[in-house]
Amino acid sequence: MRLLAGVGERNEEALGNLGIRTLGDLLHHYPARWVDRRQIRSMADLPAILFGGSPSGPLWGEASGSGRPVVTVLGVVVGSRQAGPPGRRRGRGAPRRLEVTVRDESGSCRLVFFGGAWRASHFVPGAPLLVSGPLSDFYGKVQFQNPEYEILGGEEETAFHTGRLFPVYPLTKGLTQRRLRGWVAAALDRFDRAGEETLPEDLRKRYRLPPLKEALREIHFPPSPLRRAAARRRLAFEELFLDQLFMGALRRRRDEGRKGRRVLVGGPAHRRIRAGLPFRLTSDQEAALKEILDDLSGGHPMNRLLQGDVGSGKTVVALLAIAAVADTGLQAAFMAPTEILAEQHYRTLRTLAAPFGLDPRLLTGSLSAAARKEVLRSYADGSCPIAVGTHALFQKSVRFFDLGLVIVDEQHRFGVLQRLALWEKGDTPHVLVMSATPIPRSLALVRYADLDLSVIRERPAGRGKVVTRVTGEENREAVYAFLADRLREGRQAFVVYPLVEESAKSDLSAATTMAEVLRKHPRFAEFSVGLLHGQMRSEEKDEVMRSFLDGRCRILVATTVIEVGIDVPNASFLIVEHPERYGLSQLHQLRGRIGRGKHKSYCVLLAGPGVDGDARRRLEIFARTDDGFRLAEMDLQLRGQGDVGGTRQSGRPAYRLADPIADAAMVREARVRAKEALESGSLESGGEWEPLRRQVRAMLEASVAEAG
Ligand code: ADP
Ligand code: MG
Repeated sequence: MRLLAGVGERNEEALGNLGIRTLGDLLHHYPARWVDRRQIRSMADLPAILFGGSPSGPLWGEASGSGRPVVTVLGVVVGSRQAGPPGRRRGRGAPRRLEVTVRDESGSCRLVFFGGAWRASHFVPGAPLLVSGPLSDFYGKVQFQNPEYEILGGEEETAFHTGRLFPVYPLTKGLTQRRLRGWVAAALDRFDRAGEETLPEDLRKRYRLPPLKEALREIHFPPSPLRRAAARRRLAFEELFLDQLFMGALRRRRDEGRKGRRVLVGGPAHRRIRAGLPFRLTSDQEAALKEILDDLSGGHPMNRLLQGDVGSGKTVVALLAIAAVADTGLQAAFMAPTEILAEQHYRTLRTLAAPFGLDPRLLTGSLSAAARKEVLRSYADGSCPIAVGTHALFQKSVRFFDLGLVIVDEQHRFGVLQRLALWEKGDTPHVLVMSATPIPRSLALVRYADLDLSVIRERPAGRGKVVTRVTGEENREAVYAFLADRLREGRQAFVVYPLVEESAKSDLSAATTMAEVLRKHPRFAEFSVGLLHGQMRSEEKDEVMRSFLDGRCRILVATTVIEVGIDVPNASFLIVEHPERYGLSQLHQLRGRIGRGKHKSYCVLLAGPGVDGDARRRLEIFARTDDGFRLAEMDLQLRGQGDVGGTRQSGRPAYRLADPIADAAMVREARVRAKEALESGSLESGGEWEPLRRQVRAMLEASVAEAG
């Protein structure tokens, strides 16, 4: 970095804090936003913009996650002062704030920085200043809270009046916009002379993407919003394409020279289990099953994700796949995230498969040594066709005679490399991953780029309806009265709390306290109340869960540990305390615990005090929506999709520009083109492809090093 004029040791450290160590890092440190003269507002207009009736409507770039208008003003510093928090004693850790007044020709406004005392020296009265950020309402007056700002040099102040777009970068202490901008400009000049193109021309032509040099220059210093969009598209496409190439290459490495075990479809157990089902498969279930059976019989190893909302009927589909594998004389292993779930799957499988001589055996951590030995023997000598268990199934001591299929619940959050490790257990078994987290297809293609995708969207008809209501503390007793009636009818209920123990700092009701309250409550005197939380030992948890499963316990007070796929058809009532603390998808997963039997079910969201406005509306929307995909999309819109979906794959960088939701079409194209490049061998063909090939190879090496 010190190759650049003006970057010394201290600057190098500050840049390092932003993750910038090379010129390449600097070029890819993209602006947080851009401002141009047309965006600069008069301070006199700010109240109208904030409180409605904006004189000219929003301009390009004016939006913020909070829905508050993002505005840029240009003015001079009038003065600044430091202040303590109002109405509170200034103790240790109390945030000090810095208040700055600025003015332009039309008026003035206030900037507030919390914990920003170190900035005080920036605001010399008379200094020209560019300020940009969301506006907020401070008792009827407009203010900027912790905005981006920039003290301008004379030359730049002039430049702002000539209409150029300027980048505003994410900063860290010790750096200024001006210096960073200068270094980026110098790095761009250098790249113009020595940098190489990374995308082959064919691809750039096909999607009308500008060359890299142009794209980099124009993402930093866009001549117009349109050119900036083109630059972003080019750079975002490259992120997606490179990632798909990497994941595709990883996948090829995994599958290289491996043959899938050929599974006979339509054998006796498969056919008879199917015929004996008490319902017809939905058409989505049929389609997913066909895709799976095609994989199983196709000669290639299957690596597939089966995605579907809670209760959409994934387990039945998995079961029919297991039956086909068993018919072929191969073994299948079904791995569940908890002992309770493993037992649940075990019971279902036994009921359905045992009549055909396919006896499953359950392996969990709590077996006695003798029983464990016996189960392990039945796996190893092939006498047991279906292994069901927790992650205990994949310990070193577990051997299979001939493992043909592995089914994993996504709850394990396995990365691609861990999935690879499952293979060691057999001669290239087929792998089916199941996920109950419905996410948009384009995001799934990114998050699970090493898997093929089957989706079950529609839910089976004829299940008990779930009514969802949002209410508050004022109705607690009425809710309890209604609940007591349902309990008297024989039903069971979940009460979910977001925290385990009452913490001095928090006003959340704790599950432990509430279990006591309910136990003592006269309405529930005749019903037994159980408590389940994350800090209990797993044997304790299992005991509580069992007493709920067999109906001894009627009300289960729990933290979100019940989120996983517990199936208690008799549970028809769910109370969620502090629902405002959960994501919509998480609430939906919770709601999936009820409505699993024939009874009408009730989900009551007991919002905490002061939950109104947007927070309340969000819950009302949840109450009206029972499509998990839609809720997941709303969550993603509200909170962003984060890194590449939480599957932290080493060598797999987070996207800086690409957004798998907004750029859904681009994800699909990148995936198709990457597949093509890998299959046709063009990635290895040298020439124009060489830079991409080098990058993919480096990523593969990093990822293999990580796998150890
Ligand atoms: P998931 O695993 O996707 O959460 P399950 O496979 O556990 O869903 O199915 C939930 C319930 O719905 C089970 O009781 C199952 O027997 C039932 N079910 C599955 N498919 C159908 C269908 N096509 N019609 C009616 N009920 C079904
Ligand atoms: Mg399930």
